[in-house]
Amino acid sequence: MPTKPVMITREPRGTQPPAPRPTPAWQQALASAIRDPEILLRRLGLAPDAVPGMQEADRLFRTRVPESYLARMQPGDPRDPLLLQALPRGEETHEQPGFVSDPVGDHDALAAPGLVHKYHGRVLLLTTGACAIHCRYCFRREFDYADHSPARDDWDAALAYIAGHQEIREVILSGGDPLALGDHRLARLAERLADIPHLQRLRIHTRLPVILPERVDAALLGWLGQGRLQHIMVLHANHPREFAAPADQALRRLAAAGVTLLNQAVLLAGINDDADTLAELQETGFHLGVLPYYLHQLDRTRGTAHFEVSAHRARALYRELHARLPGYLVPRLAREIPGEPGKTLLAPFPARE
Ligand code: SF4
Repeated sequence: MPTKPVMITREPRGTQPPAPRPTPAWQQALASAIRDPEILLRRLGLAPDAVPGMQEADRLFRTRVPESYLARMQPGDPRDPLLLQALPRGEETHEQPGFVSDPVGDHDALAAPGLVHKYHGRVLLLTTGACAIHCRYCFRREFDYADHSPARDDWDAALAYIAGHQEIREVILSGGDPLALGDHRLARLAERLADIPHLQRLRIHTRLPVILPERVDAALLGWLGQGRLQHIMVLHANHPREFAAPADQALRRLAAAGVTLLNQAVLLAGINDDADTLAELQETGFHLGVLPYYLHQLDRTRGTAHFEVSAHRARALYRELHARLPGYLVPRLAREIPGEPGKTLLAPFPARE
């Protein structure tokens, strides 16, 4: 044992590089996502040349499917509803009248770099263009994130705008998928938002807990489970099988951390446009602590016309859901119309045509 004080020499503060953070498992899973549609088909035992125009469509919007989502697809089924959401098809290259690059008017509502202000009392922060999956029907598949996002983590202009608008109560983190960002950056942004006194809620629109359940780890739960703001997560699952393991455990962990969970789905031809599937989606979600929120009519984005379900059929499906399920399990049927002060409800009113 030393009898004299031991002199410990240190480098002057700031001269040592910070120790690199270990890469979280979810980021490794994200990095190893499938990016080649032929490999995706082969992994499911399907012929790689079975889909006309697949490569051309892939060049417009690159394929991305994580392994955990692939594991929930049915091998050998070319009409699998999870596969159809992620597999490029030749129809995406067909121009259709009324289907445009920015169907919801995001560009016109940009109030600061990365900040969209469309509706009273809430604003949207476009945090990143990255996603865990590339959904073929995505309404932001052509959005120019590079041109309309702040430089890395430079939220000063957006936060100053929010601080200067007392009527804003809620900030929505969107993208891309905000949970594609690391927790250090998200926690720092959440802290800065919590410093704005008139904000009450932080809402996160994300598909990651469903698509890449590894994302719901201790670091995410750590910052989500604390802070002054109420945390709401709006998930995006379109088919009940998306809630299967391992997503079910991820959602239970989020609910246990006190996060309010809602689900919005998009009504998609050949994927969920039948009452049995839609009813099961609401029941399965609720069992995991997820309340139905919206059932969206497709946003008319270029290359997505083959997913559209008519308003007439959508209302008929809504009436069937209403007849089968308790009211709290029936999502609102809505569509987004640029310039309107909120989503336009197709049901519950008018309930009949
Ligand atoms: S996760 Fe959301 S933003 Fe990303 S591709 Fe899918 S629908 Fe679009």
